[in-house]
Amino acid sequence: MLEVSALSAYYGQARALAEVNLRVEQGEVVTLAGRNGAGKTTLLRCVMGLHPAVSGRVRFAGGDVSPLPAHQRARRGLGLVPDDRGIFAGLSVEEHLTLPPVVSASPWTLARVYETFPALEQRRRSPASKLSGGEQQMLALARVLRMGARMLLCDEPTEGLAPIVVSQIADILRAVKDEGGTVLLVEQNLHFARTVADRHYLLSQGRVAAELTNAEMGAREHELLEHLGL
Ligand code: ATP
Repeated sequence: MLEVSALSAYYGQARALAEVNLRVEQGEVVTLAGRNGAGKTTLLRCVMGLHPAVSGRVRFAGGDVSPLPAHQRARRGLGLVPDDRGIFAGLSVEEHLTLPPVVSASPWTLARVYETFPALEQRRRSPASKLSGGEQQMLALARVLRMGARMLLCDEPTEGLAPIVVSQIADILRAVKDEGGTVLLVEQNLHFARTVADRHYLLSQGRVAAELTNAEMGAREHELLEHLGL
């Protein structure tokens, strides 16, 4: 579904990503872990087309999207759930969810979104600024699903959230996967990562340092926690 080849990116003279290669198959949930500054957010932004890659390629759903701007990648079915959640303080929950879908064939109707995220239905008339952190994260996920994304690029969706909300987000990501959706997830919570994901990439100083199965991640958990400084 997604193939990133030899992708490098910079901020001015400083290299943030160095020849990154990774693949995510359709229906897989794959995490990106790594210390602060390892390049995780930059990689998601390069895949979405929001940060320029100096070299390398991004292939998505069988086509080379490297030359395309972000809105055209969105039309092909890539959806970014950014770390700041990208929601509009002044718009209500329902206004977020009824903005025109980018891809018409989204299976996530408004009714289905409310069934999956009951907290959002209860707050449908509330401005997004009045939602809790967990509700805002759910709104950010729901909005991208409504837009018809076939692949979610999620940047630390569990950061700072209570365990009950983290487990709701795990349920939602499993529901996305069960529908054949694909997820690339930046995640520092290794327990959560193992609960929802099939495979993991470890980024270090802008490079892929390791590719791990769930079992390998479990066996190396102590070493990884030390590496990540957690
Ligand atoms: P975090 O978990 O802290 O978000 P990350 O793994 O997502 O870290 P990035 O945010 O992608 O890492 O940052 C990769 C590198 O690029 C870091 O060295 C960072 O300092 C640098 N960087 C990120 N954003 C900018 C920016 N806007 N201007 C200059 N350098 C930046």
